[in-house]
Formats: sequence, C-alpha cells, structure tokens
Amino acid sequence: MRLVLLGPPGAGKGTQAVRIAKAFGLLHLSSGDILRAERKAKTELGRKAQDYMDRGVLVPDDLILSMMMDHIARPGAAQGALLDGFPRTVAQAEGLDTRLAARGWKLDAVVNMEVDDADVTRRLTGRWSCPQDGRIYHEQFSPPARKGICDDCGAQLTRRKDDEPTVVRQRLETYHAETEPLVAYYRGRSILKSVDAGGSVDQVTAAIKEACRGL
Ligand code: ADP
Ligand code: AMP
Repeated sequence: MRLVLLGPPGAGKGTQAVRIAKAFGLLHLSSGDILRAERKAKTELGRKAQDYMDRGVLVPDDLILSMMMDHIARPGAAQGALLDGFPRTVAQAEGLDTRLAARGWKLDAVVNMEVDDADVTRRLTGRWSCPQDGRIYHEQFSPPARKGICDDCGAQLTRRKDDEPTVVRQRLETYHAETEPLVAYYRGRSILKSVDAGGSVDQVTAAIKEACRGL
C-alpha cells in the first residue's frame, strides 16, 4: 500500500505518520526529514536545499522528485510506503504518478488533514523535536516528561529554525499557493480522504485509520 499524508505544515503529519506507518506496516518517508538529514551530512543536495528551507519556500521539484523516488524504490519500501510532506506541488504529484506507473505501482489513498491556520500556527510555534530519534513534542499539547529532554533517548530537544513566526507565515502562504491545489488534483482522481485534524492526537489517528479502512 502507498499512502500520502497531505496537509499544511504543523497539521500533525509527522506525529500521525509514525503511528499509521506502524499500524499498516509501511515505511515512513518524510521529505522534510530526508532533506534535514542531507543537510546534516553536508551533501550536495543538502547544500542546494538549505536556503529554500530556511526561507520557508519549496525546494525545486526536480531535486525533490529524484530524492523521493530514490527512497520509494529502495527494497525497504517494497511492502509499502507512507509519504509525509511529498508531493507538495501539482508538478510533483504528476511526476510521482508517472514514475509509480512506470513500475506498475499507484497511490492507494491521499489523506487530507484539515486544520485551520490559527491551530497550525499554535502547533508549530510550540513544537520541539529530538535531534537523535526525530520524536516530536509540543510544549503544551504533548510535552516530554522532563522539560527539554527526549522521553525515549534522553537527548536535549531542539526547536526548528523554520518554526520561527515569520518563517511559519511564509510556509503557510506557500502551502495555500502551491500545495492546497493538490486537494482538487487527488479528489479528481477519486483517492482523496479528508479527515478533521483539529482534534487530539488520538482522535486524529482514529479518523485516519477509519478513512483508510478496507484499503
Ligand atoms: P507536521 O509534520 O504536519 O509539520 P507535526 O507532526 O510535526 O506536524 O506536528 C506539529 C506540532 O503539533 C508538534 O509540536 C506536535 O506535537 C503538535 N501536534 C501534532 N498533532 C497534534 C494534535 N492533534 N493536537 C495538538 N498538537 C498536535
Ligand atoms: P517539513 O519538514 O515537511 O515541514 O519541510 C521543511 C522544508 O523542507 C519545507 O519548508 C521545504 O523547504 C522543504 N520541503 C520538504 N518537502 C518538500 C517538498 N515535497 N517539496 C519542496 N520542498 C520540500
């Protein structure tokens, strides 16, 4: 099975992806996490992506498509993949469809996580993440047991630079202009499943599982 989690930055895609990937036996592929790993490793791709990411705009489609297809085609993703943060433009969606079809594959569903701008802004400006294992926290909504420390591995939690309010505003603008048209794109292909992502983490997990029942 191949699923996409679609939604604005801060919708809770990363939080839900870990749970849904585990429940359905899928490999979680987050384009943002892969890009941050490329930056950390100081690769050519990481170097090319950094300025776009820091400004809160999208990395060019050709770079993203080849990066994501490389991961989707790896043996570890053969059983199925959960795409988080990709595709993010109509050109990426079309490129993905063509490349999947060339392998005899297709997307089974696209889960559209609906949540308004005020909620995602609150979520992003309170987000903390673990630089070691990637676990996501929120200072109010899902705090760690000990302030600033990862519950799982004990590492010091960090804030993403692009969660700073001015960059968050830019990322939301980019979302509405470039990513939101994917809702109509996938509705037109009859694989869109919209869920209310404004509830608690557990409520949203239940809504996504319900939307994907029978796939
Ligand atoms: P995305 O991957 O879509 O950018 P994240 O999963 O990183 O979003 O979540 C953004 C922030 O919102 C994190 O701090 C996370 O703990 C918090 N969060 C995620 N889901 C919920 C929810 N249902 N209710 C409240 N806060 C949430
Ligand atoms: P995320 O972790 O999903 O919030 O992504 C962080 C940043 O990485 C975004 O603001 C973009 O600059 C870049 N990025 C992640 N995924 C994509 C994508 N599919 N297309 C273009 N840029 C992306």
